[in-house]
Amino acid sequence: MTALEQQGGTVTVKTNRGDTLHSRAVIGADGSASKVARYVGVRCAQVDLALEVEVPADERTAERWRGRILMDWVPLPGSFGWVFPKGDVITAGVVAARGNPVALRAYKEDFLKRHELLGPRPLHDTGHLTRCRHPDSPLARGRVLVAGDAAALVDHWSREGISYALRSGDLAGRAAIRLVTAADTTEETTAADHYGRQINHDLGGEMRASGSLSHLFARNPGLLHTALTRVPPMWRQLDSYIAGHTSVATIMTTPLARTAAAVGTRLPLPRNRRAGDPARQPEGAKGTAG
Ligand SMILES: Cc1cc2nc3c(=O)[nH]c(=O)nc-3n(C[C@H](O)[C@H](O)[C@H](O)COP(=O)(O)OP(=O)(O)OC[C@H]3O[C@@H](n4cnc5c(N)ncnc54)[C@H](O)[C@@H]3O)c2cc1C
Repeated sequence: MTALEQQGGTVTVKTNRGDTLHSRAVIGADGSASKVARYVGVRCAQVDLALEVEVPADERTAERWRGRILMDWVPLPGSFGWVFPKGDVITAGVVAARGNPVALRAYKEDFLKRHELLGPRPLHDTGHLTRCRHPDSPLARGRVLVAGDAAALVDHWSREGISYALRSGDLAGRAAIRLVTAADTTEETTAADHYGRQINHDLGGEMRASGSLSHLFARNPGLLHTALTRVPPMWRQLDSYIAGHTSVATIMTTPLARTAAAVGTRLPLPRNRRAGDPARQPEGAKGTAG
C-alpha cells in the first residue's frame, strides 16, 4: 500500500503495483511503521528500540537452554534483555527507550557475549521500534481502522504485541463488518466509536497496568529483581504471564504486586535514573532472572 484516502463512503487504496482498490472499510495492520497509522493520527506515549538476533543452536546449546528463558535487566532505564530458546534456534534481544542506540548496541553485544550467543552467524539480525499508544490516541478515522502495532497496541513493560495484534485484529474485523453496512456518517461514527470503546475496555486496562509496572521497573529495577528472585510467588506470576495464563493487569491486582507498587512509588528516583545520565548502572541493581 502506498496511499489511501476516503471520499464519501469509499476508501481508496493505492499499491506500488499500480492497483487502485476501493473498499467500504479498511483495517491498517501494517505494523509499527504504519502508513495507515499516520492517516488515522495515532499518537504514542512510549517509543522503544528493540534489537534482536536469531541464532542457530547446536545440540549442546539447545540442551542447555531447553525449558528455560532468561530475562536480564539494566544498564539502561526500563530496558531488558531476553533469551527465548526455540529448539534448534535461539532468539535473543534487548529493548530500551529510543534515543541511545549506541549504548543499546553495546548492551546487546555484551549480553550476547555473556550468554555465548555471539559465535554462531545469526539467521536474522534485526532492529525495530516498538510503540505504545497514548491512551487518547485515535483508533479510527472514518472507515479506516488500525489494529496491532499500527494502533501502537503493545505492552509497556514486556513490549509483547502479538496477543494485542490478534485480539485487536479480531475486534477490528467485527467493526469492519459494521462499517461495510453503515448507511451514513452517523452509523460510520457509531461503528468506529464502538471499536474504540472495545479496545479501551478490553486492552486499555492491560496497557494501563503494564504502564504502572513499567514505571515501577524504570524507577527501581532492583526492587523488581529482588521480588522476582527472592519471592517465589512473584516468579510464578511472571512464569504464568509468559506462558499466557495470566495478564499483567491481573498480576498488578495481587496483594504482593500492590505492595511492591506502593513501596516502589514512594522510593526516590535513583540518581542515575534522572535526566541526562541514562547509561550508568545503579549499585546492586544489576541482575539476571532465569
Ligand atoms: C525485536 C522484537 C521482538 C519482539 N518480540 C516479541 C515477543 O517475543 N512476543 C510478542 O508478543 N511480541 C514481540 N514483539 C512485538 C511483536 O512483534 C508485534 O507486536 C507484532 O508482530 C504486531 O503484529 P502486527 O500484525 O500488528 O504487525 P507486524 O507483525 O509488524 O505485521 C505488519 C505487516 O504489514 C506489512 N506492511 C507494512 N507496511 C505495509 C504497506 N505499506 N503495505 C502493505 N503491507 C505493509 C509488513 O510487511 C508486515 O507483514 C517484538 C517486537 C520486536 C521489534
